[in-house]
Amino acid sequence: MMRAFSLAEITPLVQGTLRGEDLFFSRVGIDTRTLAKGALYVALTGDRFDGHDFVREAEKAGACAIVAEKKVDASMPMIQVRDSRYALGRLAGLNRSEFAGRLVGITGSSGKTTTRQMMQTVLAEAGAVMATEGNLNNEIGAPLTLLQLGPDAEYAVVELGASGLGEIAWTGSLAAPDVGIITNASEAHLEGFGSLESIVSAKGEIIDSVRAGGTVILNHDEAAFEDWRARAGMRRVLSISAQGDQDASFRAESIREDADGIAFTLLGDAVTATDIRLPIPGRHNVANALLVAAAAHSLGLDMDRVARGLAKTPAVAGRLEPITLRPGIRILNDSYNANPASMAAALRTLAAMPAPRFALLGDMAELGSEAASQHRVLGELARQLGIEQLMVTGSHASDYADGFGDGTHTGDAPETLADRVWDELGEAASILVKGSRSAGMDRAVTRLRERN
Ligand code: ATP
Ligand code: MG
Repeated sequence: MMRAFSLAEITPLVQGTLRGEDLFFSRVGIDTRTLAKGALYVALTGDRFDGHDFVREAEKAGACAIVAEKKVDASMPMIQVRDSRYALGRLAGLNRSEFAGRLVGITGSSGKTTTRQMMQTVLAEAGAVMATEGNLNNEIGAPLTLLQLGPDAEYAVVELGASGLGEIAWTGSLAAPDVGIITNASEAHLEGFGSLESIVSAKGEIIDSVRAGGTVILNHDEAAFEDWRARAGMRRVLSISAQGDQDASFRAESIREDADGIAFTLLGDAVTATDIRLPIPGRHNVANALLVAAAAHSLGLDMDRVARGLAKTPAVAGRLEPITLRPGIRILNDSYNANPASMAAALRTLAAMPAPRFALLGDMAELGSEAASQHRVLGELARQLGIEQLMVTGSHASDYADGFGDGTHTGDAPETLADRVWDELGEAASILVKGSRSAGMDRAVTRLRERN
């Protein structure tokens, strides 16, 4: 928890005007439904809501004061500002500047949350850790996370997401990481960026925000690696390669994937070779784990602690989440979301699991004119990988079926697919459940659990 700040001391910082009495606060909130008693309420204006409409609720919830962009009718003191988002950020930056621990910032197109969780479990081997909760990583979430920092933590792990250029320049400047990690850059969320170049540049903004004497951790296997390294200038850079590239400072060799997760040997110029075992599947997690190992090394942790922490990495719900329905029957719940790359990766993971293997797939959304062909290609991949049963639902079911060929089962809802698998279950099975969020494939997992 943050220390107590006074309204008077923060007023110039947020470029505001204090109206009413000065007082101290040690909590900040933006949502009156979850506001802590005695908190400073920051009224934010969004597309669908206006925090200024909830001043009454804030008072009822016990707010001590308010930051607002316009005069509001309230009996509590207020700081009137031009931009309350900016004010929230500056407050977060102030709290961060008083944090005496070490802070790791993580960005990238994919793998932020997974890497953040790995980093968190590894650092917990060395001390108390405070970290981003859920997906609170945007220009509001990141400041809210930084406002949680206090003397009770020795390490902080903060996700920085970006939906456009300049966002990480801002949240990064507030977070001022001692270690900055970029997982990758891909066209995963192209909207708001326009091109891959701007995605590379937007992720690169975290590099500029790393403190003097800090370290930048980069993936040598990424096409943008050289760009980012150049941007780092005089900052220390540690690089990783999941492909075992000798030029990288941390490398993986002998990667083995099975139903229980993934294992590899970590090699590094400055560390002893270490066997790493991750309890979560997915080859992409090798890169995530190496990034975490390099970051931990830069913070002075040895590889034994890294291995111990990584072995405790929790699965993210709905993301290649292994579930044992009963002995012999394993589900891989990847129903949180899907795109062609993650679908291919999930099918490969399924293929490494014991037969008979069932793939229960829903639509991959937002593929535009490529949609039919992409679904067909993944159906073909499932066939090539030797997956025994493909069960599909949604508007692209027939495209998956075209690719997979004979034996595809089509159902009219995720539950129907679950019922069908249930009827066919013997002593053993591996079941992948995946589709875009809108496909609601989590309902198939729920159904299987209910019937069990
Ligand atoms: P979001 O921005 O949607 O919150 P995120 O960056 O937090 O995503 P995760 O939730 O960690 O990402 O992972 C999402 C998916 O991205 C995973 O299920 C996996 O398919 C893929 N992924 C994770 N790490 C990597 C990686 N290093 N390289 C490529 N793909 C990855
Ligand atoms: Mg995330």
